[in-house]
Amino acid sequence: MIITLKKGASDAQIESLKTLLVSNKIEPRIWKGELETVIGCVGDIAHLDPGLIEALDVVETVQRIQEPYKAANRKFHPDDSVIDCTGVKVGGGAFSVIAGPCSVESEEQIVGIAKSVQASGATMLRGGAFKPRTSPYAFQGMGAEGIRLLSLAKKETGLPIVTELMDFKDIELFNDVDVIQIGARNMQNFNLLKEVGAYTKKPILLKRGMSATLQELLMSAEYIMASGNPNVILCERGIRTFETALRNTLDLGVVTYLHRLSHLPVVIDPSHATGHAYMVDSVAVAATAIGADGLIIEVHNDPPHAKCDGAQSQTPEMFAKTMERIKKVRSAL
Ligand code: PEP
Ligand code: MN
Repeated sequence: MIITLKKGASDAQIESLKTLLVSNKIEPRIWKGELETVIGCVGDIAHLDPGLIEALDVVETVQRIQEPYKAANRKFHPDDSVIDCTGVKVGGGAFSVIAGPCSVESEEQIVGIAKSVQASGATMLRGGAFKPRTSPYAFQGMGAEGIRLLSLAKKETGLPIVTELMDFKDIELFNDVDVIQIGARNMQNFNLLKEVGAYTKKPILLKRGMSATLQELLMSAEYIMASGNPNVILCERGIRTFETALRNTLDLGVVTYLHRLSHLPVVIDPSHATGHAYMVDSVAVAATAIGADGLIIEVHNDPPHAKCDGAQSQTPEMFAKTMERIKKVRSAL
């Protein structure tokens, strides 16, 4: 952090600011120029609010030079993190495709889809049991029964299962779940992030909030990591913009940007990003080409009758073709 003082700052004011910084375990380095005085702060400023310093009478500007996240920061962890999802690796060159329906609907549905996506090369199975829906009248998911059916599908196929936790009170139902999803709507539910981070070291698939900046996404990852769980996978699923033609607006450059700032793997969700099944293939291929560490794709055996997100769900046949193209891109890279 660099603090620039106002012209005419008195020695007494500078001294009192110095005392404040030292009491916050920061070592101030002061340069007195002809026109202005600048203070360089050495030390951990994570617990200091730069806004408080900026509000002081004597201060002209405060510039942060360090990112406010440490655990998620590549500076302190130069190597890519490889997240182990019950044997399936994500990150550091390991690429994984999570596929399955938006929501679990029946044993026949989830086991059937699990087998078909596995045959096409998916390495994990997704399926929502607790669904965050815009309308309270829409299907809310099967809850505990949905998780039991996911477990059955895991027994049949061996695929690790990924499902969303909306409320920490349900955590005990997640014993057999391999990857816990924190959805876009809960990305800044800080209590949930702290609780899940302290309770388990299972991988957390953290989806970007629909109006969250990338720094906010990384700060949410930081909550989970600072609470004790280093196993976070970031998921970009598009954000809300003025555009209405697509469900969300997806910037694939995010993959490159997040890889630069953080060592955590980045997975792309082309289904929620576009909202249209016909677009999922090309966006999935592009995300693979740009260097994503994995994909999460919605696949349904009967999209027109899906209880949730049918319009963006690929059929197993579409998914098989997409997997073929992804494999070609992977081998070309
Ligand atoms: C989902 O994965 O089905 C979901 C609800 O995603 P998001 O939180 O990204 O909207
Ligand atoms: Mn969905």
